[in-house]
Amino acid sequence: MKVKFWGVRGSIATPGKSTIYYGGNTSCTELHLDDGSLIILDAGTGIRNLGNKVAKSNKNIRAYILITHPHWDHIQGFPFFKPAFVEGNEITIIGPEARGVSLSRIIAEQMNNIYFPVKLSELQAQINFMPVKEGTAGVFGAEVQSFYVNHPGFTLGYRVTAGSKSLAYISDNEPYSRETARLFTNVEPDVQKLFENYQGDPNDRVIDFIRGADVLIHDSTYTPEQYSDHIGWGHSHYLYTLRVAADAGVKKLCLFHYDPVLDDKAIDTVLTKCRKEMKKMRYTFELSAAREGEEFRF
Ligand SMILES: [Zn+2]
Repeated sequence: MKVKFWGVRGSIATPGKSTIYYGGNTSCTELHLDDGSLIILDAGTGIRNLGNKVAKSNKNIRAYILITHPHWDHIQGFPFFKPAFVEGNEITIIGPEARGVSLSRIIAEQMNNIYFPVKLSELQAQINFMPVKEGTAGVFGAEVQSFYVNHPGFTLGYRVTAGSKSLAYISDNEPYSRETARLFTNVEPDVQKLFENYQGDPNDRVIDFIRGADVLIHDSTYTPEQYSDHIGWGHSHYLYTLRVAADAGVKKLCLFHYDPVLDDKAIDTVLTKCRKEMKKMRYTFELSAAREGEEFRF
């Protein structure tokens, strides 16, 4: 598989001089299977540049977009995804539904005429919708597993397996604490139940899902200092992210979904502190801080 990052931010795009190195676009990752099939992880603002690249080839495409959840930073780029405007293209959107709101309506609403000049129904490409809960789906030659994580609303993590390789994508996820979880009103009771009913440490639910992946792209929104003021917001701090990767026994971890206040210098500092922690804890996986434009094969 080949991975390329087009947007690595959480919450809101952060363009500017201080974010040039890691990039300012929100969540979007391009994944190519070995046969060239295109799977896109989330449709944050980064998907615009990816779409421009795809459109340049002037060939019709078939692609899947896996949406973790419909918070703005994960869907906002879709109306600017050029291949959606091209007749003959086929794009299938996989994602969770909200309580009583279908996946197609979720995507259509952000393009209703109050918010955007072109309606979903006016796009020239064929757009298919494939709502998922927890389960497994076949996507091209790969197996895509979906799994609820600890983030407000119905938020999914994905695991894509092709041949002997697998990549886990957990863009938004907070350590689950039974003590504090019941204090929050923005959680989905059905998802909360899954964590509450888990025997043992509820965080192992997510860790089991990731276990043994070759690559883990995981929420690393906050520093531990920031996290203490953001408990219940649905995100991890980097020390927790390292622990997840170590406990799950992954080969490579990519820190992802940085808080808008973390500029390039701050992310460099995060990376240095992570390496120090890894040495101390004798973690052996490979570590990188995801950066817009970065690509690798595994
Ligand atoms: Zn997010």
